[in-house]
Amino acid sequence: MANTAVMDRLVSLAKRRGFVFQSSEIYGGLGSVWDYGPLGVELKKNLKERWWRAMVHEREDIEGVDAAILMHSKVWEASGHVAGFADPLVDCKTCKNRFRADDERLKGTPGTPEARCPVCGNQGTLTAPRLFNLMFKTFMGPVEEEAAVVYLRPETAQGIYVNYLNVLQSSRQKVPFGIAQIGKAFRNEITPGNFIFRTREFEQAEMQFLVRPSEDTRWFEYWREQRLQWHIGLGITPAKLRFHQHGPQELAHYAKAAFDIEYQFPFGWQEFEGIHNRTDFDLSRHQQASGKKLEYVDTATNQRFIPYIIETSMGVDRLMLVVLVDGYHEETVEGELRVVLRLHPALAPIKAGIFPLVNKDGMPEMARRLYDDLHRRFTVFFDHGGSIGRRYRRQDEAGTPFGITVDGQSLTDQTVTVRDRDTLAQARVGADRLVEYLRDRLES
Ligand code: ATP
Repeated sequence: MANTAVMDRLVSLAKRRGFVFQSSEIYGGLGSVWDYGPLGVELKKNLKERWWRAMVHEREDIEGVDAAILMHSKVWEASGHVAGFADPLVDCKTCKNRFRADDERLKGTPGTPEARCPVCGNQGTLTAPRLFNLMFKTFMGPVEEEAAVVYLRPETAQGIYVNYLNVLQSSRQKVPFGIAQIGKAFRNEITPGNFIFRTREFEQAEMQFLVRPSEDTRWFEYWREQRLQWHIGLGITPAKLRFHQHGPQELAHYAKAAFDIEYQFPFGWQEFEGIHNRTDFDLSRHQQASGKKLEYVDTATNQRFIPYIIETSMGVDRLMLVVLVDGYHEETVEGELRVVLRLHPALAPIKAGIFPLVNKDGMPEMARRLYDDLHRRFTVFFDHGGSIGRRYRRQDEAGTPFGITVDGQSLTDQTVTVRDRDTLAQARVGADRLVEYLRDRLES
């Protein structure tokens, strides 16, 4: 299947089954902004919970925070975003379309008479590249003036840096330790696209690990490996994951070293998480701009220093695209096309479908009783409409790992069949053992 066809089918499945909808669709949609539907919100929540558990709950050396999206505009001056968070852009004076200066469709040098607009085809209408800041700007309070400018944060990290001493003082942490956060970020991307890969409003799961300046390399390598292993633990195909090290030209203004974790999407290898050694850049800049001391005092040695920061920065929506793409399979079973989302059971929005084989002889009643019992513990779905094959296929598309069917035998011996989404094997399980059976398989 051609790569674009895979994406088209995935986008259509995502809409059909309620994973992802275009924002404001009835008004023609809002460019590169997406809404999550009933299944999408569950999948995203499961991803975030799993990340939080691994990064915060299962570790003694990381604390969580949830900083506000709006911050003092001086934060973004100190961080370098007001001056430097910009892409060079080219405008067409005729059709008013805007392009990134590195857009492969541009022919010739923008700003010269030879250059031709790739959209309207006119020659000599493209401006020379100009810097365009990616931060969304708005105003706080009743007046629209420069003094009231606030930005929607383009990354969650700064909310951690400006709070690092508050966290240190209110917890019992000592360097090395980390601060984790999940939250929305906004970038006025000029060439967004590829579904939820690059959007203007997105969510980041970031962790900033504060270390002694002399220990930065060791921790950088540690976190790089940890993060890769975490993704492999989600069941993502290891052969489709790789590291990409940033060369000197690619490094962000704040970074000493950076690795991307990339996935082989249908549209090529692309980053979905970055591991960065941000040195003491951010804390030093905030110390200078705020006039507040942001040094760490080691009480054992009385040494004072500004910690170095190793950052792990993951796009939650991008990871969601990774698990959707990686899980999407089309196969032929008994001569029929089966579309299946092979999501890790812990991530699946619905853990089990519950079906009466036919709608008579007490089967619906027994299936309903099972549903009433199970839905207090797991997200389960009761479905009695249509043929059993059709009901299985609906759950395959939703990524539901188990299908529980009440059949004739169930009424006599209180057992049910449990169908495995991936192997299609059916096991007979006692109805009173279902909770335990599901728990064992969902937690592995
Ligand atoms: P890119 O080069 O793709 O624009 P970046 O290098 O600017 O990404 P970072 O600033 O390192 O990205 O952000 C960390 C993570 O946040 C990225 O790996 C990605 O998963 C996510 N992210 C960044 N920008 C977007 C966006 N516009 N839409 C969705 N996720 C994003």
